[in-house]
Amino acid sequence: MAEETYMGVPRSKIPWSPIIDYKKCDFCKGDPQCLKFCPHGVYAVEGNPPKLTVKNPNNCVVFCRSCRKVCPTDALSFHQKSEVLALIQKLRLERKPEAVKK
Ligand code: SF4
Ligand code: SF4
Repeated sequence: MAEETYMGVPRSKIPWSPIIDYKKCDFCKGDPQCLKFCPHGVYAVEGNPPKLTVKNPNNCVVFCRSCRKVCPTDALSFHQKSEVLALIQKLRLERKPEAVKK
């Protein structure tokens, strides 16, 4: 189950989830390793012909990048951690102090 907040900020406002480079992704020739690897239901296979998608980006654990290791084509990337951290800090400041404490 995805967490609903991270550092007091709604998870849905945090841009952290895999970005798939479809020029590189070969769908692991029909056996997508990233989908098998991630236990959080982030990925899905949709469409016809089947295509790997990031169906549930908010299920991705903030700052996890583990599935990159299993991708044989280096097709997965993430935003810069430092930029996302800066955004989280900005969002925290914008929220009421009571909300940040939660
Ligand atoms: S980064 Fe971690 S949580 Fe996110 S999709 Fe990959 S394995 Fe799953
Ligand atoms: S592991 Fe890499 S190549 Fe395989 S389906 Fe996932 S993104 Fe595509």
